[in-house]
Amino acid sequence: VWNNCLSFIKDNIQEQAYKTWFEPIVAISLSEDNALHIQVPSKFFYEWLEEHYVIILKTALTKELGNQAKLVYKIKMENTYGNKLPFTEQIPSTHRSSVKTQEIDVPVVNKNPELKNPFIIPGIRNVKIESQLNANYSFDNFLEGDSNRLSRSAGMAVANKPGGTSFNPLLIFGGVGLGKTHLAHAIGVEIKDKFPEKTVLYISAEIFTQQYIESVKKNTRNDFIHFYQLIDVLIIDDVQFLSGKAGTQDVFFHIFNYLHQNGKQVILTSDKAPVDMQDIEQRLLSRFKWGLSAELHQPDYETRISILRNILYRDGVEMPEEILEYVAKHIKSNVRELEGAIISLIAQSSFNKREVNLELAKQVVEKFVKNIKREISIDYIQKVVSDYFQLDTETLKSKTRKRHIVQARQLAMYFSKKFTKASLANIGAQIGDRDHATVLHAVKTVDNLVSTDKQFKKFVEDINKKLSI
Ligand code: ADP
Ligand code: MG
Repeated sequence: VWNNCLSFIKDNIQEQAYKTWFEPIVAISLSEDNALHIQVPSKFFYEWLEEHYVIILKTALTKELGNQAKLVYKIKMENTYGNKLPFTEQIPSTHRSSVKTQEIDVPVVNKNPELKNPFIIPGIRNVKIESQLNANYSFDNFLEGDSNRLSRSAGMAVANKPGGTSFNPLLIFGGVGLGKTHLAHAIGVEIKDKFPEKTVLYISAEIFTQQYIESVKKNTRNDFIHFYQLIDVLIIDDVQFLSGKAGTQDVFFHIFNYLHQNGKQVILTSDKAPVDMQDIEQRLLSRFKWGLSAELHQPDYETRISILRNILYRDGVEMPEEILEYVAKHIKSNVRELEGAIISLIAQSSFNKREVNLELAKQVVEKFVKNIKREISIDYIQKVVSDYFQLDTETLKSKTRKRHIVQARQLAMYFSKKFTKASLANIGAQIGDRDHATVLHAVKTVDNLVSTDKQFKKFVEDINKKLSI
């Protein structure tokens, strides 16, 4: 009976899955009331079967044994030292399936209290895979415009056929607040909806890195890899975070290859195109380019308006058209800020119980535009300036009086004054213990040079562009 079930299952699922999940099963007996007893290697294994293959199991069993068919799992146990213990324990299948289980008392031979919870497999292998998807980020509320049409439709294509398009991996890239995370979730949510049996996992590259480091510490690196190999659709957000992290890149490389070879879908997001990613291994970058890299651009005016309208509609709020237009006109480069501004306006109008007027809109927008600037830190400015001149920040902060380094240093001070609220003294302190007079002098020098030196003016404009969102 079991062999017939197996061949039916084999014909209906992927070979790899069959090997992993069905070959290790041992059929034990068939009792008079049509209950088939099978032995599985672990509790995790049992849960996995129930979670993912219950329908096919049920179908196979019903075909063989009729509607009265029942399935009883026995779990082969190992003690914590890995020695096989001579007993099995039954777990009634409590699943929603109508493959009913039967409870038989099995004498539990070993009552060692230390083995009270024998289901804990070291490492993370027994963690139930929750997709970590945010259902609020759907395709429905990811508004389409020229800026995102390509990425959005590539995302749709992947969602319709995960692992089955040439968009593997699908890499979505673009600046801050342009919808990368939203779109990545939307793809996952759509896949879960269309293919509920697929295991989808959304994870940020940062958490992935933390998990990996943890696994190395706990000596469970293999479990870590194994866990990721069980996934059908892996979504990793902000892969630029992996830059400079060789160990994590290495492990990700292996996981990626495994998934890709087995027809699993990988979706990545990044704030840069692969060509611009720094400190990422070449072999990994070349993998990123295998599929499709789709860019999210800044939304055009029309799209900004529809995003605003959508929020008002969602919250059941009305607002004069000229307010929408004002907000959409002034906040261009970041959908998150756009949302923030309109939500703030909605809040203020309900708080003050008055209609939003243009005056209020101006105040709010101003605050948001300033906020964007305030988010730039002195560190960040120093990094951007150093990168621009191909120096490292240590050199920038050093005592060197070489002309081009002095200029770069002065530019860093100038932009720190321009883009942050830090005092002159503070700016000086953060660039190698200089005093406020030095900073003031730097600001004046830059102002002068901009009006007299064409080349220098170009430097200022370039850096300004890099720093302005
Ligand atoms: P990123 O990950 O690129 O920094 P997010 O995905 O977090 O950006 O998007 C920022 C905010 O903007 C989110 O609240 C998201 O829902 C919203 N957003 C971005 N693009 C769109 C869009 N096309 N339609 C609707 N909302 C969007
Ligand atoms: Mg994001």
